[in-house]
Order: sequence, then C-alpha cells, then structure tokens
Amino acid sequence: MGAKHVIVVGAGVTGLLTAVRCALAGLRVTVLDRGPIPNPTATSHVEQRVLRAFDPGDVAATRSAAVLHRRWLALEELFGTRFYRRVGVVTGWPADAAGAALETARAAGVPVSVAEPEEYPHLRFPAGSAVLVEPDAGVLLADRVLHAATRWLRAHPLAELRPDLVVRSVDAAAGAVRLDGGGTTRGDAVLVAAGPWSGELVDVPTKVHRQTTVHLDPPADLAHRWAGAPSAGRLGDGRAWLVPPGEGTRLKISSAALCREVGAPADEGDDAARWTDHLDLSSVLADHERYTVVAVRTCHYAVDARTGGGALDRIGPATWARAASGGDGFRTAPVVADRIVEEVGT
Ligand SMILES: Cc1cc2nc3c(=O)[nH]c(=O)nc-3n(C[C@H](O)[C@H](O)[C@H](O)COP(=O)(O)OP(=O)(O)OC[C@H]3O[C@@H](n4cnc5c(N)ncnc54)[C@H](O)[C@@H]3O)c2cc1C
Repeated sequence: MGAKHVIVVGAGVTGLLTAVRCALAGLRVTVLDRGPIPNPTATSHVEQRVLRAFDPGDVAATRSAAVLHRRWLALEELFGTRFYRRVGVVTGWPADAAGAALETARAAGVPVSVAEPEEYPHLRFPAGSAVLVEPDAGVLLADRVLHAATRWLRAHPLAELRPDLVVRSVDAAAGAVRLDGGGTTRGDAVLVAAGPWSGELVDVPTKVHRQTTVHLDPPADLAHRWAGAPSAGRLGDGRAWLVPPGEGTRLKISSAALCREVGAPADEGDDAARWTDHLDLSSVLADHERYTVVAVRTCHYAVDARTGGGALDRIGPATWARAASGGDGFRTAPVVADRIVEEVGT
C-alpha cells in the first residue's frame, strides 16, 4: 500500500507547516491555495509575529509553550534559514503581582526577570508597573518562515504545491474538496486551514476579529534605542503592544482597543484610519510626536466562538478544520501540524 495522502486547503503558516510535518512523517501531501504560494494576502504573510513562552498565570501553559519555542528553533535548522530574532519580550505587570508571575516562570523552567521601567526609556508602561523580561522570547520573521517552508516543500518528493486553485466547497463527510471550475480532489485526510476565510468552506462556530496596526519609523537620533530592542506588551493603558523594528521590518504598534468583531474578513465600510484614534501613542511611546506613521494596516484572525481561542475541529471522519487559529495562531501552528499527523497516522 502507498503512503497516505493528505489534502491541505490554505498555504498560510498552518497549511505549510502541516505539510512539512506530513512529508517528514512519510505522508504524501498536497497544498492548495487560491493565490501564489506563499500568498501575500494570507494572514500569516506579515513582517513579524511574536513568539514567547511565558504565560504569567499558568505553569502548564508556560511549559508547553517552552516546548513549542524549541520546535520553532528546530524548524530554523530544518529549513536552513534564520527567521527568529531573539530580542526578548518585556511586559508591564502590576508590581504587586510580579512575585507570583516570577514563581510561575521558575516552576516552568522559563527564564524571566524583573526590570525597572526606566531601563526602557523609549516605552511607556502603566503607572505602578514592574517590567517582566523574558530574554529567550522574540520575533518570528513571518514571511521568511513561509518562504522557507515553501522552498523546503518544493524540494520534497512527497509534497505537491498547487497555487492559484480556488476551493469552492469542502464535503466534510466524504473528505472531498471541490475546486473552482468543477474538479474534485480527495485524499485519505483533509485539513481546511483557510485562515479567517475558513467560514466560507466549513461550518465551525467562529468569530472573525479585525485588528488595525500602525507602522512607524523612529527619528534617526532615537534609532539606537531600537537596535536589538525587545517586543513589548501591556503598554499604555495596559492593552497596547508593539513589535520592534529590525532586519528590514518596521516598528508596529497596536492594542486590544483596535480589535473588533466583524461578520467576515471582506466586510465593507471599515475605516482603518478612524480606528487608529483608539490608540493613544503618547501613552505608549516617549517622544511619540517625533515618530513618522508610515502605514496603517488591517488584518483578520478568527477565534473559536465558544472559547475565544484557537481550535482544531474534526468535522468529518477524516476531515479537520483549523477555522479558528486564534490571536496566537502563528506560533501555535506546529501543534496543529503534530496533531494532524498523529490523527491521520502513517
Ligand atoms: C494584528 C494581528 C497580530 C497577530 N499577532 C500574532 C502574534 O504575535 N503571534 C501569533 O502567534 N499569532 C499572531 N496573530 C495570529 C496569526 O497571524 C494567525 O492566527 C495565523 O497567521 C493564521 O494562519 P493560517 O495559516 O491559519 O491562516 P492564513 O495565514 O490566513 O492562511 C490561509 C490561506 O488560505 C487561503 N485560502 C483562503 N480561502 C481559500 C479558498 N477558498 N481556496 C483556496 N485557498 C484559500 C488563503 O489564500 C491563505 O493563503 C496575529 C493576527 C493579527 C491579525
């Protein structure tokens, strides 16, 4: 009997890393995308995504995230491409809760220390914050990840990439994928990983979130503050976060206040610029008026309507959907890849 064949719909981080994992496990795998592979319109195709292990209230979650962190480093080795910037992540945390948070990190074996806000003079944390520093955390150069995975798959005999094929529907019971133009493709298993557009193909309860991000250039005389600067969370009113510039990427700032629920990624009538009014840059950055806003972008991700997080649902005998990738769906993609290979078997 030949190797089992997995069909993956969507060539974002979920689809591509699942395909890599399948090929490594000896499964045949075909990845379909409606555009080029990788597709610049995929949610995953951005400059950076944050990778951290520390979950201040949860030892078990911190432990599993630390394992996941190592998986990403192993992927760098596998692809022979560097895509991780180990710049650290700093988080403003209520000073009286910092001790308990440190205890969580210690119990999980993840290095975390406390710093004074003054050590980051370019950032503004909420009053009374201690700053928790996770030095091993950092930033994944997301588009590099997708290109590296694509190159690796192109060279692998068990993998097939099929760009420019729009999937019209998925018959979850039959494990059949219907293509624009009338063709149908089948495998021993199907994964639908069409990001926030998955709701057009499968019936999984999700909510689509739209987030506006603001991209800025620091003034030249403050560039030194950003050289190797960490990513930062719980800034300003405690809801803002930023990803630092570096290696060709720009400083990106957003906030939970710039995230809203919408019917679908294609909803009309959004006014991204209006949403930036919800971001008080003066509470996030020192000297904010000297920075130049160079872009305002809008991006979507879907969450599970029941939990608000990510989910992998079995929707047919051999059909799975990662319709809800969640707000941390980039860094958790290797977990989905593992589960698919485990469930499909070899
Ligand atoms: C502002 C913002 C910040 C974020 N920050 C982080 C972060 O710091 N860390 C983190 O881990 N995560 C973060 N995320 C979440 C993360 O980016 C997503 O969860 C993840 O990229 C989703 O990847 P995916 O592969 O599931 O979907 P996508 O990357 O969206 O890929 C889906 C693919 O499916 C294809 N497709 C769709 N419909 C069809 C069809 N009908 N036929 C064929 N192909 C189709 C699309 O073309 C696309 O290529 C953030 C999200 C946003 C919006």
